[in-house]
Amino acid sequence: MPRRGPLMSYYACRSCKAIFALTPDKEKKCPVCGSRDISNDWSGLVIILDLNSSIAKILGVSKPGRYALKVR
Ligand SMILES: [Zn+2]
Repeated sequence: MPRRGPLMSYYACRSCKAIFALTPDKEKKCPVCGSRDISNDWSGLVIILDLNSSIAKILGVSKPGRYALKVR
């Protein structure tokens, strides 16, 4: 039976640290890099707007977006 309304969980990618929401019917993979190595056990949310900022360099991100500081 179809569920009414999406039940979203937030996952973080272990390869690129991107944070994204998934509904139970969606394939469990990262929409940014395509990795299936994702986790819902993460902490620290940063929003990267400027790729030249030092936090973007520390995290090694290649595009603006939401990232986790720690993915377990
Ligand atoms: Zn990824």
